[in-house]
Amino acid sequence: MDKDLKNKSFGESLEIATEHKQKSFCGKYLFEFIHQKNVNIIDDITPLSKLFRSQLIETGFLISKIDLLEQHDDPDGTIKFVFGLQGGTRIESVRLKDGDRNTLCISTQAGCRMGCKFCATGQLEFQRNLTAAEIVDQVYQAERLCGRIDNLVYMGMGEPLDNFDNVMRSVEILNDKHGRNIGIRHITISTCGLPEEIKQLALSPIRPRLAVSLHAPDDVIRAKIMRVGKKYHITEILESLKKYQGATGKRVTIEYCMIDGVNDQIGHAHSLTRLLRPLKVNVNLIELNPFPGCRYSASSPGQIQQFAKVLSDSGIETVIRFKRGRSIKAACGQLGATWLK
Ligand code: SAH
Ligand code: SF4
Repeated sequence: MDKDLKNKSFGESLEIATEHKQKSFCGKYLFEFIHQKNVNIIDDITPLSKLFRSQLIETGFLISKIDLLEQHDDPDGTIKFVFGLQGGTRIESVRLKDGDRNTLCISTQAGCRMGCKFCATGQLEFQRNLTAAEIVDQVYQAERLCGRIDNLVYMGMGEPLDNFDNVMRSVEILNDKHGRNIGIRHITISTCGLPEEIKQLALSPIRPRLAVSLHAPDDVIRAKIMRVGKKYHITEILESLKKYQGATGKRVTIEYCMIDGVNDQIGHAHSLTRLLRPLKVNVNLIELNPFPGCRYSASSPGQIQQFAKVLSDSGIETVIRFKRGRSIKAACGQLGATWLK
C-alpha cells in the first residue's frame, strides 16, 4: 500500500482518519496541512492527537518532499528550478511571468518515451513516472520560492497522458477546494496526442484544458520528427479531439513547432487549415528552441509570420509564442538539455 500522504485525495485522507478510529475532520486536517500549509512532517500537524500522529508514523505513513537543487533566473523573469526526487532522479519546472500573473510549467515524467527528435527531454533516457505527490510538490515548492502561481501548465518534462492516473490524481488534488484550490480553467495539460487517453480524459469528472502538440500537416512529416507519429495517425488524434469537444464543449489549443524546411511551408499551412477546420481550436506557433545536438533549426521569423497569416486568414485564431528563458535553457523543449551528453 502507498504510504505517502501527499498522494492521497481528500476522500482518501478522510478514510485514513476513520480507519484509525478518528473523526473524519482529522482527515480534513491531514489534507489541509499538506496541501494548503505545505507541511512535510506528520508531527507538525498539531491539531491531530499525539496518539494518531504516532500511529501514522509507526505504520509507515510519511509526507514526501522534493528538494530544490538549483535555481536559474533569466533576465526576462523566467525562473528554472531543478528538483531532486527520491532515488536521485532530477526534474525541472519553469516559472513564467505574464504581467502580474505567474504560470508554472511542471514535469510529469523523468525523461519521456515519445522520442520527439526536436525535444531535449525526448533525447534523455526515460527513467520513471512521477508520483502525484512529486507533481503537486513542484507547485508548493515553487510558491514557497517565488510567490503565488496563477496558472498551471503540464508542459514540462514528459508526456502527461503516458502517466495518466498520477497526472489526473495530481489535478484532482490541486483543484480540491480543501487544498490548493487551483481553478480547473487555470490548468492545462499538453499532450503529444494519445487518442485513447484523450477519450478517457473526455469521460473524466475533472477536465482541465487541453493542448495537443501536432507539429505536422500530415502523417509522413509527423512520423519523421516524432516517434509517436508512427503509432497513431493524425485522423485518430483528431477523432479523439472531436469526442473530447463533444463531451466538454471546450476549445483545444494546437501546438505547432516551426522547424526550418520540415513543416513550415505555405502548402503545409493550407493542409493544416483543412485538417483543423472541423474543430474548435486555436493554434500556437512555437519557434523551435535549439539544444546541443539538435539536428533541426528554427524557421525564420518571416516564414513563421507567413504561415500564421494563412491560418488567421482562414479564421483560425493563431498566436506566435515568444521564446522565453532561453539563456537558462528553460524554453519549450529545452528541459533536460543541460544533462545531454
Ligand atoms: N509531452 C507534452 C508536454 C511537454 S512538451 C507534449 O509534447 O505536448 C511541451 C511543448 O514543447 C510541446 O508542444 C512540445 O512539442 C514543445 N517542444 C518540444 N521541443 C521543442 C523545441 N525544441 N522547441 C520548441 N518547442 C518544443
Ligand atoms: Fe516527450 Fe513532449 Fe518532448 Fe515529445 S515534445 S519528447 S512528447 S516531452
